[in-house]
Amino acid sequence: MTNTVKQIQADIATPDKAPAQPLFEDGKWVWERHYPEGISWKAPILKKPLFHIVDQAAERYAHKTAIEFQGRSWTYAELGKMVNRVAEGLQKFGVTKGTKVGLFLPNSPYSIMFFFGVLKAGGTVVNYNPLYVERELASQIEDSETDIMVTLDQQALVDKMNAMLKTTRLKKVIVCPFGETLPFVKMLLNTFAQNNTAKVDADSRHIPFSEIVDNPGRPIAIPVDAQEDVAVLQYTGGTTGVPKGAMLTHANCYANMMQIVTWVKDLRYGEDSIIGVLPLFHVFAMTVVMNCSIYAGLKILLFPKFDVNEVMEAIKKHRPTLFPAVPAVFNAIANAPNVGDYDFSSLRFCITGGAPMAADVQRLFEEKTNSRALAEGYGLTEAAPGCTFNPPVGKKKPGSVGQPVPGTIVEIISRDDGKTVLGVGEKGEVCISGPQVMKGYYRRPEATAEQIKNGRLHTGDVGYLDSEGYLHLVDRIKDLILVRGYNVYPRMVEEAIYLHPAVEECIVAGVPDAERGENVWAWVKPAAGKTVSADALKEFLIDKLSPIEVPRKIIVREKPLPKTAVGKLSRKDLLAEEGIIRK
Ligand code: AMP
Repeated sequence: MTNTVKQIQADIATPDKAPAQPLFEDGKWVWERHYPEGISWKAPILKKPLFHIVDQAAERYAHKTAIEFQGRSWTYAELGKMVNRVAEGLQKFGVTKGTKVGLFLPNSPYSIMFFFGVLKAGGTVVNYNPLYVERELASQIEDSETDIMVTLDQQALVDKMNAMLKTTRLKKVIVCPFGETLPFVKMLLNTFAQNNTAKVDADSRHIPFSEIVDNPGRPIAIPVDAQEDVAVLQYTGGTTGVPKGAMLTHANCYANMMQIVTWVKDLRYGEDSIIGVLPLFHVFAMTVVMNCSIYAGLKILLFPKFDVNEVMEAIKKHRPTLFPAVPAVFNAIANAPNVGDYDFSSLRFCITGGAPMAADVQRLFEEKTNSRALAEGYGLTEAAPGCTFNPPVGKKKPGSVGQPVPGTIVEIISRDDGKTVLGVGEKGEVCISGPQVMKGYYRRPEATAEQIKNGRLHTGDVGYLDSEGYLHLVDRIKDLILVRGYNVYPRMVEEAIYLHPAVEECIVAGVPDAERGENVWAWVKPAAGKTVSADALKEFLIDKLSPIEVPRKIIVREKPLPKTAVGKLSRKDLLAEEGIIRK
């Protein structure tokens, strides 16, 4: 049994002992006493207009590669110029202070050019998931008041945008040619192989990219109040599941970027390179892959999607040093049959977060890649997103999501009264305060008031801080399974299932039951070339979990388990797929 499983079980079995050590004592937070050497929790965190980082990088790192995408690259000077031309073009088409511009883009250099182009033009970026169905798109367009959308000339994307032009408030669509981001040979191959390039109507509602950038790149400078002006509307289900737009100001985004680069203290400015497989429309990639990298002048190896072999080949060819991704990506690498053929020694820091990382997945990744670089962090959309990380240099604690980044306070609030601040080792709701915490949800004051109370962001996650100020997550409040009134933490059951060597992916969830309230079910996908039966797994779990936690039903399937667009295993999609809930 791993320490994590044992630890959580012990915590559940033993009632918290009083009095616990307070989190704040003698003028210091518990983590401050155990902070990594050479990093100050009180380090200055600036709050500036976010697009300043592109101007700065275009000057400081002009000739360094900013983006490498499918064999073509752009320098920081080129990126800076394109951002200015996009900004001027957008202004010509009416974008001004506060205009909402949607980005409906899979990863490509356009994602970065338009993100900063919109901000420089004075607008607000609204990130859209390109996998959304029309119903989801329509509701986000109306809720966020998006008038202009940017997309690629790919048929599936253009079809959806044409439907939105007819049925929603959307007024114009900017269409970018995907082929032009590829080197010549790839472009030909792409055209012949897939032929999914859309023929776009020539009318006043469709604007070709060429028209947007047909200018010298001198946008009108729009004054920005970093503290107040919203840079990004980032949609999230939050703790209730109803999609809401988190208003991330320029200051929120700038602060979180600074908090993270301060934390990665041995970052090599203008030298390091980073793998960008996470979708840039998700907040994790927006801050870590895009903003931090541009600030530090790193080379971004950008991928349109995650393909395990392509990423391992890129590691071989480019020798990147940083690799942020969700646990499913590291899990896929660790389980790739050919992982042993690759050398991962260039990786100095792999950051995982966004979803729980089973201790066994971490162990397997380290073993198979011979790397000690993997460390877990924690964040959420409403905090732009980074809150805690294990230090790249210093004490990493497997099973913990690390210490608060500079300027961030993590408190644990009692779930009994929603107010009492608990002490070291006591479990309750994780609450965050800091300069990265959102301004609120767009046009939803009640939802904002429920989430931010007394300046603290209530995350909906259950956890505790240990005596060195490392945060341990137990589960999400809404994911807890109640079996005959007894709390079962799905994460803990998943941790135990991952200990079985044949298991590659696993999701545990509560399924309604008339008599017991809920039953624990598990869905498991074995690793390539391995098999395991439901009965064998149940047998395996008997000495690892209490009887009430052992899943009533285990479904073993060959098909990969459903994932969200960012690659997190999705309990919600699985339950919808199985007809247990409506999506
Ligand atoms: P999102 O806003 O979609 O990025 O989701 C944020 C949620 O993901 C958090 O509230 C947590 O429930 C979960 N999460 C993020 N990082 C971790 C982590 N390292 N371990 C477990 N859950 C995590």
